[in-house]
Amino acid sequence: MSDCLFCKIVAGEIPADKVYEDKQVLVFRDINPKAEVHLLVIPKVHIDSLDELTEGDDELIAHMMRLLPKLASEQGLTEGYRTIINTGKGGGQLIFHLHIHLLGGKGLPGFQ
Ligand code: AMP
Ligand code: ZN
Repeated sequence: MSDCLFCKIVAGEIPADKVYEDKQVLVFRDINPKAEVHLLVIPKVHIDSLDELTEGDDELIAHMMRLLPKLASEQGLTEGYRTIINTGKGGGQLIFHLHIHLLGGKGLPGFQ
């Protein structure tokens, strides 16, 4: 997926404000934050969206989910946080590399 923006960030070809990285996952700050804390949690492997997940991704997805509270805690979001996964054009997905938005702190928009 050479034309995928998030794959380019994983490859280090485009800079990002990274906050966490391990073998499977990269986390960086959203370039256009919708709240005081707005992180994007992405798998390092290219997966278009939730629609493309297979059983083979179960361990990866569980890892991403369990990472969320740790990231929230590290970001000081003691009162709570919001997670969003946009899927497909109808779901507002703009970048077709699976990502979880982690939002919290001041300016957290309402859910609509
Ligand atoms: P979505 O609508 O769920 O596909 O969200 C894509 C998100 O990626 C948006 O919140 C954008 O602000 C964010 N974004 C786009 N380009 C970059 C970039 N180069 N670095 C960090 N975040 C980005
Ligand atoms: Zn990608």
